[in-house]
Amino acid sequence: MACLALIQTKLKRKEPVLLMLDYDGTLTPIVELPEKAVLAKNIGLALEALASLPTVTLAVVSGRRIESILAVSGLNTEKILFYGLHGGESLVAESIINHTTIAQKANIQSIRTLLEQSLQTIAGVRIEDKRSSVAVHFRKVHSDLVIKSIEARVLSIFYANNDAHQLRLLTGKKVLEILPAQFNKSHAVEKLIQTVPTHYPVYCGDDTTDLDALAVVLSAGGSAIGVVEAGEAFIADTPLSGIVTRQALIEFLIAASNQD
Ligand SMILES: [Mg+2]
Repeated sequence: MACLALIQTKLKRKEPVLLMLDYDGTLTPIVELPEKAVLAKNIGLALEALASLPTVTLAVVSGRRIESILAVSGLNTEKILFYGLHGGESLVAESIINHTTIAQKANIQSIRTLLEQSLQTIAGVRIEDKRSSVAVHFRKVHSDLVIKSIEARVLSIFYANNDAHQLRLLTGKKVLEILPAQFNKSHAVEKLIQTVPTHYPVYCGDDTTDLDALAVVLSAGGSAIGVVEAGEAFIADTPLSGIVTRQALIEFLIAASNQD
């Protein structure tokens, strides 16, 4: 894995590195119930050790709410930076800053009600109210025909109710999410790069929701790393510095955290 070896070299030489990591599918396997995506203890310890290195800035950038990342990961907020809701939430001095407008929140809540009415009869669909966004999960639906029908319903409700084009629709792995238009992981990545401009930026992610962030890191001259499960292809055909398995990434993080 040449792309990981490059980062390993930089860490060994004590060159500053900005390490940005997605959570689900990157640090944990994708599971049917999001609350079951618990971070293995040794990975958590490795991340905290890496974040404690004076030359490393480490951030978790997830589509989850920060509250949810902290609950499933058990990570310590002392050294690690957290961005949730695809960059719409950040953790500053122990408090969560949410960047949704009141109008967007109201719009999302009315869309959520319509989604619940439209989808409640379909078995296996779960509507997650993230307050500043609403996600329709269909990981438990296995029929392509039913999935097409779910997608059609979500799209039609979204387009009929996106007042003033303040919201956008995001497609991830077995999930559709409606969120404020300005929420994008790439904004969190841009902000982090500006905060530590001399650090070598690295982003690791597994889903379509990571593509903009990966592109930003690539154009900033850093490492854009796609994460896959063994034997799988990356979610999109897009320019990357490299593709690694989740297992290889985890082994790298653990090894990098005990290098001295
Ligand atoms: Mg992911």
